[in-house]
Amino acid sequence: MSLTHPEPHVSIVMKKPRIVIAGAGIAGSLIASGLRDRTDCEVICLERVGEHEQGEAGTGLNIGPNAIKCLRLHLPREAEAIVGNSLPWSKWTIALTSGRPLMDLRLMDVADNAGVRIRWAELYALLRGPLDGHIAYNTELIGCGQDGPGLTTFVTWRSRETGAEGRIDDIDLLIAGDGRYSAIRQFVLGGPDTPAFLNVCLYRVLFPAGPDCPIDDYGQWFNGPNRLLAFRVPGDLIYCAGSFPIPAEGAIPEAMKQPDFLRAAYMPPDGPPSREAGYLIEAITRHADRLHWARLQEGSVSYGRKAGILLTGDAAHPMVPTLGQGATQACEDACVAVDEIRLALARKGGLADVPARVEERRAERIRFVVDLSRAATDTMLAGADPIEGTRWKTEAPFLLQLKTLYRDVPLPRMDRADDRRRTFA
Ligand SMILES: Cc1cc2nc3c(=O)[nH]c(=O)nc-3n(C[C@H](O)[C@H](O)[C@H](O)COP(=O)(O)OP(=O)(O)OC[C@H]3O[C@@H](n4cnc5c(N)ncnc54)[C@H](O)[C@@H]3O)c2cc1C
Repeated sequence: MSLTHPEPHVSIVMKKPRIVIAGAGIAGSLIASGLRDRTDCEVICLERVGEHEQGEAGTGLNIGPNAIKCLRLHLPREAEAIVGNSLPWSKWTIALTSGRPLMDLRLMDVADNAGVRIRWAELYALLRGPLDGHIAYNTELIGCGQDGPGLTTFVTWRSRETGAEGRIDDIDLLIAGDGRYSAIRQFVLGGPDTPAFLNVCLYRVLFPAGPDCPIDDYGQWFNGPNRLLAFRVPGDLIYCAGSFPIPAEGAIPEAMKQPDFLRAAYMPPDGPPSREAGYLIEAITRHADRLHWARLQEGSVSYGRKAGILLTGDAAHPMVPTLGQGATQACEDACVAVDEIRLALARKGGLADVPARVEERRAERIRFVVDLSRAATDTMLAGADPIEGTRWKTEAPFLLQLKTLYRDVPLPRMDRADDRRRTFA
């Protein structure tokens, strides 16, 4: 494989299948990583931001046990890098901000292995580091389409450093890893998607734990539908994601972003907060001016509606982050995409069918994950009762669904030893 920088107005007669990946986020970097040692295809990876620049870099995330299990089966090198540079996610506790416990789940009761807790900046460094020199940073995909007699795929791009523009033609497989607002998704769907908003806002912040910090593994604390979520990540840092319902129309009101509002949202009505909730309330009010704000939303699922164009990660299934499955499913997508590309290259039958094959393997599972994530959001909606909303999450049917979520990951179809023999023969 050669991973190359795009040149302005390139016009090359291709012998090897050409794969263009837009976006070196979770899905895009993992796919590039899974293909990086190949000699039988050309891969071009375009990333809009600079090498050390990333919107989410100042926050953290939890990656589900299913992503780790899936990566170990498909991309073991990448799995071990992530596990080795993160903290295990082994517990999920839920309580009221007053301290009343509602749930205490050991993930090993519903999963085969732990998940991980990690900083975004660390995750990006781990995923992109090994691709050093192979990602075209500061290079934004600005358009894509299919033209010519054979309706071959092309993309257009612009350098954010120089303003230079170019076009890459004769693409055998275009992979959208460009996230929730993907330009390729719009092309495939025939226009902008209309997201469904759940009228809940979500804010995130990462800050030093400090002395006597009571936060460790993944916990949630509710005051009515207002939720604090927090866990420790490497570097002695605490990641906190808070949420509360917002009015149905428009942006998040500025008044709701102020320290007094935030404090009142989480203070229990009938007494002092627990040690954990008190610690988090103090921290979010202190860091109120640097919270990252978003609104909970989801869109439709689509992987492979057009031959030769594959949507992955948020570009395929923008979902609510309630169960921490967005990046997690981007990992599963990347594993299946790499597996199908390896199979197609081994068959030497072209890459046009890869999107349909990925869709076939992924659609049912992703609809299950999207639906489960939305159902689990019940406690965050206006008027929700966290006690009732948590009760069903401790009962057998939901625990069974968690087992399916965390254990039933897609298995590899391509035998890797056989693949290496064919690729490097
Ligand atoms: C508040 C919040 C909390 C979350 N917490 C979690 C969590 O704890 N666990 C979890 O699993 N998921 C979580 N998620 C979801 C997770 O962030 C996403 O699902 C995940 O990042 C999707 O990965 P991706 O590879 O599809 O896209 P992204 O990670 O968004 O990557 C897209 C990449 O494409 C690049 N790009 C965009 N447009 C272009 C373009 N035109 N040209 C070139 N490059 C482009 C971007 O710069 C970026 O690098 C959370 C989401 C939110 C909003």
